[in-house]
Amino acid sequence: YSFEDANLHPTFLKNLQLANYEKPTPIQKYSIPVISAGRDLMACAQTGSGKTAAFLLPVLTALIKKGLTMDQHEEFQRPRAICVAPTRELALQIYNDCRKFAYQTEVRAVVLYGGTSVDYQMKQVECGAHFIIGTPGRLLDVINKGKISLKDVSFLILDEADRMLDMGFEPEVRKLVETLGMPPKTERQTVMFSATFPEEIQKLAADFLNDYLFVTV
Ligand code: AMP
Repeated sequence: YSFEDANLHPTFLKNLQLANYEKPTPIQKYSIPVISAGRDLMACAQTGSGKTAAFLLPVLTALIKKGLTMDQHEEFQRPRAICVAPTRELALQIYNDCRKFAYQTEVRAVVLYGGTSVDYQMKQVECGAHFIIGTPGRLLDVINKGKISLKDVSFLILDEADRMLDMGFEPEVRKLVETLGMPPKTERQTVMFSATFPEEIQKLAADFLNDYLFVTV
């Protein structure tokens, strides 16, 4: 199994070469086909396993396939995908990987995290955001400002879910998913990554995911 077999957008293949990604890691090999097939996924993988590319590559490919327009300065931004991460560092890391993979594509990504001006981040969102990556509290703050339409969000990614629970973010994460729509009443595809799979995470998976597949490496 190679990246060429993964039905990725051709520009991503070029950018992967530029980034010296030669072959998929195990979590990429098992997750990319599941996400590309449109299925919800629960994946158990550690940091360093290549989990970021495992969700970014198929999700960004799907977004481009669906067709992206430039909504710069429209009254409401309509993000197509949202990724939630426990910390500013992880959110920034996902954002940087996203920029790397999406180089020379039409995908516009924005990163949101607490501890810094919400007005500045809001302005970035207003400049156009197909893919929003953020920490739970700040994501909710920005959504509550009412300038984002959530009706076109067709992907939700929850990264390091166990760490989000450890850090006490369960209320914010639940509120976010409820705001976006809980299954089975939503057509959205949801993907959850966690290093561990204790009972609390199994419960989240049961609540947030729809007929999901499980992958562990
Ligand atoms: P992650 O687990 O997503 O934090 O990735 C860990 C590190 O591995 C990051 O520095 C990635 O850039 C790198 N990486 C991920 N996938 C690959 C791959 N297929 N080939 C080479 N490096 C990779």
